[in-house]
Amino acid sequence: MTSYKELGLVNTREMFAKAVAGGYAIPAFNFNTLEQMQAIVQAAVETKSPVIMQVSKGARNYANGTILRYMAQGAVEYAKELGCENPQIVLHLDHGDTFELCKDCIDNGFSSVMIDGSSLPYEENIALTKKVVEYAHKFDVTVEAELGVLAGVEDEVASEVSHYTKPEEVVDFSTRSGCDSLAISIGTSHGAYKFTPEQCTRDPKTGKLVPPPLAFDILHEIEKRLPGFPIVLHGSSSVPQDEVDTINAHGGKLPDAVGIPEEQLREASKSAVCKINIDSDSRLAMTAAIRKHFDEKPGDFDPRQYLKPARENMKKMYIHKIVEVLGSNNKL
Ligand SMILES: [Zn+2]
Repeated sequence: MTSYKELGLVNTREMFAKAVAGGYAIPAFNFNTLEQMQAIVQAAVETKSPVIMQVSKGARNYANGTILRYMAQGAVEYAKELGCENPQIVLHLDHGDTFELCKDCIDNGFSSVMIDGSSLPYEENIALTKKVVEYAHKFDVTVEAELGVLAGVEDEVASEVSHYTKPEEVVDFSTRSGCDSLAISIGTSHGAYKFTPEQCTRDPKTGKLVPPPLAFDILHEIEKRLPGFPIVLHGSSSVPQDEVDTINAHGGKLPDAVGIPEEQLREASKSAVCKINIDSDSRLAMTAAIRKHFDEKPGDFDPRQYLKPARENMKKMYIHKIVEVLGSNNKL
């Protein structure tokens, strides 16, 4: 058993309470490589932001659980080395699908886990979440649950259709499961293709796809029923058009990729939404920089030559999200 406290990590309880009260959201960036981790820590330190580093089950398998534990510890020590006296870094499991996986993460240094029972019948979702909460709380680990189903594809998590969260269920669900935060479905979606062209309208000037708006009425209804309770938005990458254009201009093929407009995420951050998950934008920033580099310098073959600009491009994106979208800067 390795407690996250030994690694210098924190759970989400205090940072979510501050974020809800302060009208901002904590960035939850997915990672599975050294360069992503370095870019996340540099961005968080430079902007004085708390940060959630999260891994899916697939990412944990890819990177290896033992290595991840030391990477998280390394992230804390690296933040201190960069001059941050009191880093607030969470290591979070994204989309845990079984009690056993959550337990394994809790036993190996995670400070927060998500148990995603959203595809189960309502009562089974409560029972599974409660079981994880009871174990996690023994070790002061916080638990995110999900109610409602997001569309899109994220590693092993996939659904063709979304089911918006029903506001009338949130009080019963959070009370009986004991979860610390709740991921809801209000129209965000996993992946770089969040909406089909048929679901969007086209901007007559640019020809670009404009996605349907988020269901803020549902969010506000949930806030009313669960005042001050931490709400989480998954699938909240914006799929920046300049990164998509760079990828496509250098041999990539991402036609009609579309994400959530940043103005809507900015508005959500001011509400009880206190954690916003961003994964695809990091993938796009990394891929765009690498494709451009290979196209312009086909003779390069030292990984540092192309991973360094990739890391810089991700860092730029992380800083942009923290400062311009979530508002979590200067909160340490
Ligand atoms: Zn998700």
